[in-house]
Amino acid sequence: MKPALIVIDMLEEFVRGRLRSPQAETIIPVIRSLIEVFRGRKLPVIYVIDSHLPSDIEFKVWGPHAVKGSSEARIVDELKPSRGDLVFEKRYYSGFRDTGLDVTLRDLGVDTVVLTGIHTHICVLHTAADAFYHRYNIIVVKDAVAAFSESDHEYALKYMERVYGAKILTSDEVIGLIEKS
Ligand code: ZN
Repeated sequence: MKPALIVIDMLEEFVRGRLRSPQAETIIPVIRSLIEVFRGRKLPVIYVIDSHLPSDIEFKVWGPHAVKGSSEARIVDELKPSRGDLVFEKRYYSGFRDTGLDVTLRDLGVDTVVLTGIHTHICVLHTAADAFYHRYNIIVVKDAVAAFSESDHEYALKYMERVYGAKILTSDEVIGLIEKS
């Protein structure tokens, strides 16, 4: 297994802004531990972040959010990327769409994506869908993803498990797997 940690939309907008998840603050330390384990093993740590232009289609649904260059579109300080991490800006829910993520994962020899971040039922789910189409193994870290509500979160986890064959694991289980590999 060659995993990459994917940190989705841990931005001011979704952690403390208008489109925040109530659970966002609680997943920050969990994601930080995962980042440290991946960095320690020299495994890829990849951020995919909303960086919207004013014409983007999502604004019809959610209104303007995470506009490129705004303070809301900044990764939260607690999870700032280090040198060696990769950051992909996105304009859609999925971290794969028009970002170059897939070819980079292939260049790195990655076969498994480990998904963390916000929101479980929107950007995490759409990133899982594209990971499935691109034939990656998918792990969703259930204590490192969050949604607007517990029901959105639970529904999305079940959906990804049933529809994309995702493994739904705890962060401890993922760290155990990485340390064994
Ligand atoms: Zn967006």
